[in-house]
Amino acid sequence: MKYKRILLKLSGESLMGSQQYGIDNARVLQYAEEIKAVKEKGIEVAVVIGGGNIFRGLSAEKSGMDRAQADYMGMLATVINSMALQNALETIGVYTRLQSAIKMEQICEPYVRRRAIRHLEKGRVVIFGAGTGNPYFTTDSAAALRAIEIKADVVLKGTRVDGIYTADPEKDPSATKFDSLSFQEVYAKDLNVMDMTAFTLCDENNLPIIVFDMDKGGNLMKLIEGENIGTLVK
Ligand code: UDP
Repeated sequence: MKYKRILLKLSGESLMGSQQYGIDNARVLQYAEEIKAVKEKGIEVAVVIGGGNIFRGLSAEKSGMDRAQADYMGMLATVINSMALQNALETIGVYTRLQSAIKMEQICEPYVRRRAIRHLEKGRVVIFGAGTGNPYFTTDSAAALRAIEIKADVVLKGTRVDGIYTADPEKDPSATKFDSLSFQEVYAKDLNVMDMTAFTLCDENNLPIIVFDMDKGGNLMKLIEGENIGTLVK
């Protein structure tokens, strides 16, 4: 196995499946199965989920809301998604812990770094909810931060596209995919991998990122086994 401890970042939007809003339970269950499969190989798995399928601070600000207030609402949305994934994982017999950056004692543990690491060592999937707990950040930043804190080997960013392209492949059919890139190349080519705060955090802490298509069954396992899918940034 190529990695021992991974941090998987899923966008909120990916949980919508074919819906326009909210959570598609079949999709969440599919992700849970993929996670279970790699966990059974002895991989320690931490997960950060976005909230864009429910609420996004930046969009709410555009329609007149106070940004910080809207961002806190976005963070709550990530907890809802995290609970959905937790439920799906437990349905198929995977032990989990949900830790939130904003205290919600009735539904999850507060984020405690040492405790999170202990859970991972005991073979539990740890889901980090509520992003970083701070407005003006994103769940990409939460993924980078938590990955560094728990000393994950890699951030796996599951998206709808199968890697980083020269241009948006959904808009430009001539776009080609990179197999791997250095952090410097990403800056120089002005490519969009994660938001810049998250990206520089990974760069400064030598944390590799792999962007890959999480919707294709078996892809997560392929990555863990060292197969060259998606795009590696290191
Ligand atoms: N958010 C935040 N701080 C964080 C993480 C998230 O304020 O550390 C808010 C922000 O409003 C964001 C929303 O939560 O728009 C949902 O997260 P994100 O947009 O990163 O989700 P994704 O795009 O991955 O679905």
